[in-house]
Amino acid sequence: MSSNKIDLRGLSKSEMEKFFENLGEPKFRATQVMEWIHGKGVSSFDEMTNLPKDLRMKLGDVAQISPLIILKKQVSKIDGTRKYLFKLHDGNTIESVLMFHDYGISVCLSTQVGCKMGCGFCATAIGGFKRNLSAGEIISQAITISRDLTEENERISSVVLMGMGEPLDNYDNSIKAIRLLNLPQGLNIGNRRITISTCGLIHGIRRLSEEGLPITLAISLHAPNDRLRTKLMPINRRYPLKELLKVCKEYIQKTKRRVTFEYALIKGVNDSKGAARELVTILRGMLCHVNLIPINAVRERKYEPTERSQVNEFLRELEQGGISATIRRGMGADIHGACGQLRKRELKER
Ligand code: SF4
Repeated sequence: MSSNKIDLRGLSKSEMEKFFENLGEPKFRATQVMEWIHGKGVSSFDEMTNLPKDLRMKLGDVAQISPLIILKKQVSKIDGTRKYLFKLHDGNTIESVLMFHDYGISVCLSTQVGCKMGCGFCATAIGGFKRNLSAGEIISQAITISRDLTEENERISSVVLMGMGEPLDNYDNSIKAIRLLNLPQGLNIGNRRITISTCGLIHGIRRLSEEGLPITLAISLHAPNDRLRTKLMPINRRYPLKELLKVCKEYIQKTKRRVTFEYALIKGVNDSKGAARELVTILRGMLCHVNLIPINAVRERKYEPTERSQVNEFLRELEQGGISATIRRGMGADIHGACGQLRKRELKER
């Protein structure tokens, strides 16, 4: 595909209207084309049968709908979780995950190729950072998976930006993609069903609190004190816990929305009773919820998941301390569940 053609997948409604205005076409063409791209998931102008043939040809000359190519799709035999490995136009690869819950189907999208944050337990961090994804590339993951689901008469009901990359490090494209996920003529995912997850970029959190987007903010916390958090997550050196929690409180105050704290339990590292008590101390009084995640093992990192009985005990400590918490069901354990592992294997094979 020619790179000087404009990729229509990443255009907002107003940008699409402007695009057609520049072509000398009426505004309603923008709605029609967005329905085809975001609602029906088509990637060729020929399929847009309600557009005049000469317009379809004109669009083919100046624009493209850059598709993602499914390189691999793995399906878990345990719970049906699907992992997609997508190839981008420049040969880079990214992962997305689809999960079945009793409340619907969720997808986890990537926002960057690789990641700069270097978290110690993460497979994505191993390969370093390559580049940001465009809004079109972020939304395309959901569109492509949705098209895959349509054949089964299913639809995506919620989305998490928690795959490869740090969404707030690619702020504008992540927010643009969220607004595209909202499109009534597209995937029509309500803001309350969208979660953005961050390792704690406080400037991004501040900016997000001004957006007026009632989405869920999830913070990857994973440790109850600076010593341990810095060991697991280098970003903590730049934004220590005190600052991070302060900005979370400001976010809650401004948006009146509950913040989720993700806490991946790692055997012998952050899963003691004492750690649970420290967590209670730092979160007490906040409008928040803690998601306890039994970590997926990453071979290179030598971290192991906490035993179930210990996970239950950790949960009990939090609840007794008055902190709302749940244990997240481990998904896709048989298909390299941890984010970035499928891509890493593919890079190795290459
Ligand atoms: S856990 Fe998230 S923020 Fe940390 S390195 Fe992995 S992808 Fe990046």
